[in-house]
Amino acid sequence: MRVLFIFLDGVGLGADNPEINPFARLDMPFLQGLLGGQKFLANAAPYAGERATLLALDAGLGVPGLPQSATGQAVLLTGINVPQEIGEHYGPKPNPAVAKYLRNGNLFSQVLRSAKTAALLNAYPPRYFDGVDSGKRLYSAIPLAVTSAGLRLFDKADYYAGRALSADFTGAGWRSMLGFPDAPIYAPRQAGQKLSRLAHQYDFALFEYWASDYAGHRQDMNWAVEQFKTFDDMLSGLLEHWDDQAGLILITSDHGNLEDLSTRRHTAARVPALLLGPAAARAAFSHGLTDLTGIHQRILDLVSP
Ligand SMILES: [Zn+2]
Repeated sequence: MRVLFIFLDGVGLGADNPEINPFARLDMPFLQGLLGGQKFLANAAPYAGERATLLALDAGLGVPGLPQSATGQAVLLTGINVPQEIGEHYGPKPNPAVAKYLRNGNLFSQVLRSAKTAALLNAYPPRYFDGVDSGKRLYSAIPLAVTSAGLRLFDKADYYAGRALSADFTGAGWRSMLGFPDAPIYAPRQAGQKLSRLAHQYDFALFEYWASDYAGHRQDMNWAVEQFKTFDDMLSGLLEHWDDQAGLILITSDHGNLEDLSTRRHTAARVPALLLGPAAARAAFSHGLTDLTGIHQRILDLVSP
């Protein structure tokens, strides 16, 4: 069965407190509809409904300190308790100790080895590749996993040709921040339909949304609220087009951050695992899943049984 993994950086399940938690403040009518009218908060999980299952997963993994992106993402991509192995939570970008685990085998390389197809659906702008080539920019865990597997990262030409999606879903950033006034642009709902179409071309597809962690560090409530209104509309377009019988959608994170804007730092909150798709696959995926280490094998079990 096909899997689309939407990775949200720095999104935990937080308190029902609109002063600090954008998910308590904002309305996401589509997602809340999937969750039986509940908001995307700690008290909504666990939940299993008609089309959605929500679990709250431990991201601390028995290691002291606050979870970080490099180790958290490495856990999702390898199934190994990397922070425990190296003795600390580490991030944001992988150091050699974390990179070693990603290079030794990850979701992308393992899916490809079983003769299935995989892709990271984000399009990266020219300045990203310039930074990597000049040595100024280190790969974060997900692009490192992709390139270690021998896959290429999608670029501007892929974005313009509709083979990949903008990291902000709509492409507004390509026009306003990256300086490409002719870049394709999508309404949020259209971006969701596009994401579904792209994901249907692969056995395993991942989309990385990093702006959530960024907004958490900036403690930017207004931006967070606007972003997740966009996210909700995107999700409605995605599910409108998604073939439930053919695939499962997983939305999860590496650590908390955005759900508590009283702090600039990451949080120890549990992170959501939101599963969308056929009930049997959701039930199998959920069974015994309590922390981030369990995600990797469950994805492989679906994609290449
Ligand atoms: Zn962060």
